[in-house]
Amino acid sequence: MAPALAILGNHYDFGQPQANRHPTIENDPAVIEQLVRWKRRAGFDTEFLMVNHSYFEGQGGDDPKAYCFKNFYGYREDWLSRYLPVAHRHGMRVIIYFNCHWLKAAAFPPDCYVVDADGRPKVLYGDGGEICCRGPYRQWSEKMAEDLGRYPIAGVFLDGPVKDSCWCPHCRKVFQDRHGRPLPEKPADLPLSFQADYEAFLTEMPAGYVEAFARGLRKHNPHAVLCCNGGDSRQMKATLPWTQLLGEEGGFVGYAPACVCRGTPAVRARFNSPWPGRRRGLRCREMSRVLSSRESRNMKW
Ligand SMILES: [Zn+2]
Repeated sequence: MAPALAILGNHYDFGQPQANRHPTIENDPAVIEQLVRWKRRAGFDTEFLMVNHSYFEGQGGDDPKAYCFKNFYGYREDWLSRYLPVAHRHGMRVIIYFNCHWLKAAAFPPDCYVVDADGRPKVLYGDGGEICCRGPYRQWSEKMAEDLGRYPIAGVFLDGPVKDSCWCPHCRKVFQDRHGRPLPEKPADLPLSFQADYEAFLTEMPAGYVEAFARGLRKHNPHAVLCCNGGDSRQMKATLPWTQLLGEEGGFVGYAPACVCRGTPAVRARFNSPWPGRRRGLRCREMSRVLSSRESRNMKW
């Protein structure tokens, strides 16, 4: 029996070996139709869908004005409104992939990024900044979530938010206001009796972000599910009031045309073994090709 929820983790990790092409937006309605039909035949009824591919362009991280859905901040095109009707026509539920940890370094003012105790910005994946999800980016995201929730999506998967030590002005102020003392330069030197408070302060960073995002998302889409990219057990427990799925990072199918799939063993098994009642013989390397390039036009369906 097929599971009630078979999620296709449509996410591309940047900079994978052999990746010499990057995804582009598919605007041909006939090809979109083919892609959705292919995903359904592969046995999926739900997918994580990327709506911003800009971290493949220029310096690392997403460009917040490059989203492919309407929003208050500025966007590249409203592609989502063209994709969703096709997906829904074929019974595919769409969960939007939303990167909330890796942004282009100049996308937001400097006080929006994670910095160390000396004020040096943290660099992720070689370039691009780690956004601080406690600062102004949290309110920005809540408004983006509200705009996403205007679409008939099934929910949002947050890639992040990151629980991290940060000495930006906002983290310093929150800590000072909460504990009546400056944010310590070396948390490890804090007395043992204070370690739990510091840990709770760190956990609030992603948990508060998820709460804000959920508030925005469900303003117009009250039944939208929300899930985030793991985190430690404290973070997962703290976000439970607003999330519906745990441990979603595993299962992503790595982007790299015609190369070995990096999915979890469970996902690889899924694609390399017969699927009861479904088309047989689809393999993970075929999936990589379909999702990553316009070669899908030439595939047999
Ligand atoms: Zn911060």
